[in-house]
Order: sequence, then structure tokens, then C-alpha cells
Amino acid sequence: MSHQRKPIIAANWKMFKTVSEARETAVRLKALLDGGPALQSREVLVCPAFTALAAVHEVLSGSGIQVGGQNLHWEDEGAFTGEISAGMLLDCGCRYALLGHSERRQYFFETDETVSRKLRAVLSTPLIPILCVGESLSQRESGRAEEVIQGQLSGALAGVEASGLGGLVVAYEPVWAIGTGMTATPDIADQVHGIIREWLARRCSADMAAATRILYGGSVKPANAGELMSRENIDGALVGGASLDAESFSRIVEFK
Ligand code: PEP
Repeated sequence: MSHQRKPIIAANWKMFKTVSEARETAVRLKALLDGGPALQSREVLVCPAFTALAAVHEVLSGSGIQVGGQNLHWEDEGAFTGEISAGMLLDCGCRYALLGHSERRQYFFETDETVSRKLRAVLSTPLIPILCVGESLSQRESGRAEEVIQGQLSGALAGVEASGLGGLVVAYEPVWAIGTGMTATPDIADQVHGIIREWLARRCSADMAAATRILYGGSVKPANAGELMSRENIDGALVGGASLDAESFSRIVEFK
């Protein structure tokens, strides 16, 4: 973590929690964090299921904890049954949007091209995009992690002017570490984050790369958050399983 970049700690609740469960967790989270020092120095957000967005936003409004969407469609509106747009996320109070999560790539056939369309849609709104990239276990074992991640970055950013990427947030989430309990070591994560930052410097500019927050995701827990965040290139966390419980997520937010 560098002092020039404000860390972001993001909760991804995936397809968990009814509206009342989400509201209850948000109430607890707000009680645990509101007025404390962590919200002064860190950006904190929760990405509930679409059905709970408005309720969670209502609970958290004024607390400093923001809300984000887990996915979106690239069109503003239209005959796209089952989809929701960037404008609809904004309408529910979202400040952020996750893009290209590995579960979307793996189970819902998202490609770099569709992730790129979504990124361009988000960049035309005030939403802050959190672009997820990461290699699978077999890609890492065959020595292709770097190439895969660079391919995902260049695919997602295709056709986007460097000048429009000032607010981009990247999340490095090795697929083998998501929900498996196998956290990437701080050394591995920091090394990959460094590669992503160098790639951004070449593609955009040194200033843009130095300012871009790169989050780590993959079995982050209260017990390992502090060590991961102590590394120069790790600017926060995207947390799945350990974010479902308000106490556990608040301890990650308050990492030392
Ligand atoms: C995620 O889904 O973004 C994630 C990192 O999950 P987990 O923390 O459960 O590995």
C-alpha cells in the first residue's frame, strides 16, 4: 500500500442474502464502522445482489460506506431480459461496478470483448469501474499467468483512450484463490500487481499507473489482510466469503 493511493476494501456478496438479510448485515456493518478511523482513510463498499441494492444503499447512506453492482449490461436500456444497466445501478445508489469477475467469465461466458463493452458503458457514467482479472491454476502452472492477465487488460481496455481511464480500479483475483482458502502469498500478489502497474504505465502513463488502485481478491480474511495490504503494490481487497459476516468484513476493513 502506498500512501499516495487511498485503499479500497470491497465486499462481494455474490448470490447470497435476501433483502432482509442484506439489510441486517448492512446495519451491523454500519454500527461497527461508522465514526471509526477506518472510514476516514479507506474507501469501503458493499456489492449486494441487485435485489438488495436499494435497501442496502438506504441503510448505508450517510455512513461513508458505498454500494456497488456486481455486473451490468453495456446498453443503456432495451429488450435485454434479465439484464440491468449502468444507469439502473446509479439509480439504486451505486458508486462502483464490478466488471469481468471470474465467475461471470467462467459460468456466464463473459469474454474480454463483452467486458470491454461494459467498461466503456461504465466510463460514460459517474460509476467507478473495478475491473477483475486473474489466471486459472492451469494457466499459472503452465507459466502463462502474466500473459493471461495482460491479455485480459488489453482486451478490456481495447478502444478506450488513456485519458478516459483516470478512475479505473483493477482487482487481481487469481481464480485458484477465489473461495478456495488458498490465498496468493503476499509476494505473488505484489509481484503480479507490479506487472499490472507496469502494463498500465506502458498503455496509459506513468502518472496514471502510479495513481491506479490495484486490489487483491482471493480468500482474503481478517488474519491475512494486514500482511497483504502492507505490500507496496496492493491497494486494497475484494472480499467474497469473509465479507458475508459484518464482524469479519469490518476486521478486514480495519486491517493494521
Ligand atoms: C471474490 O469473489 O471476489 C472473492 C475474492 O471471493 P473469496 O474472498 O471468497 O475468495
